[in-house]
Amino acid sequence: MLTIKGLKASVAGREILTGLDLEVGPGEVHAIMGPNGSGKSTLSYVLSGRDGYEVTGGEVRFEGEDLFDLEPEERAQRGLFLAFQYPVELPGVNNTYFLKAALNAGRKARGETALDSVSFMRLMKERLKVLHLDDTLLKRDVNAGFSGGEKKRNEIFQMAMLEPKLAILDETDSGLDIDALRLVADGVNTLRNPQRSMIVVTHYQRLLDYIQPDYVHVLAKGRIIRSGGKELALELEEKGYGWITGEEAA
Ligand code: ADP
Ligand code: MG
Ligand code: MG
Repeated sequence: MLTIKGLKASVAGREILTGLDLEVGPGEVHAIMGPNGSGKSTLSYVLSGRDGYEVTGGEVRFEGEDLFDLEPEERAQRGLFLAFQYPVELPGVNNTYFLKAALNAGRKARGETALDSVSFMRLMKERLKVLHLDDTLLKRDVNAGFSGGEKKRNEIFQMAMLEPKLAILDETDSGLDIDALRLVADGVNTLRNPQRSMIVVTHYQRLLDYIQPDYVHVLAKGRIIRSGGKELALELEEKGYGWITGEEAA
């Protein structure tokens, strides 16, 4: 599904990712944890093709294709979904309209017919129900003035609608209350299936009380320095990162 080998990337001339390796297979849920500033969000941005994040080495393959040969839109259309720590706000762009455009762009890229308004509304209602969400956010502009919890809710809903093959969720370092964490976890658990892979980037061991990852990785100084099962998250909760990074406990 996703293979990352020796990935190096710079931001503003400074190397942030320093040779990162990661392999994600179909249906697997991977958690990436690590001290603040270790490069977790940078990894998400590099994979999404965000401006200002320069790849300086290594390679990334998504379903056999060189990810960096694809435009950011093409990555999304092939089933890569990235949810951000700080999602963009699009004032003046209705959330439902935005989602329909994104969904149909993906369908078109896969050679499927576009969903008409009636089918789209039906699908939306069905997915809202599955996730136990209401439709209040859909009438608003994309992320405009959304609280942290509302952005998360919207993100999970987008994921449910777009049915990605690989979703990368970058959790905020602060400000998410327990309800928002639960919502993200419930969404991930609901949308988990044998074909869909997920990478959950998180600062919090707590999130992993609700999401049971298949693998846990520790990212420090721009690369993955330790990988294990979900017991690794418990160990980190107990001991911090210091025993792995060789620095002061984070
Ligand atoms: P994490 O998500 O693990 O907390 P980040 O990927 O956000 O870490 O940041 C890693 C490092 O890269 C930090 O030192 C941060 O200051 C730097 N960095 C990230 N984005 C930018 C940017 N746009 N401009 C300058 N420095 C950045
Ligand atoms: Mg951070
Ligand atoms: Mg971050």
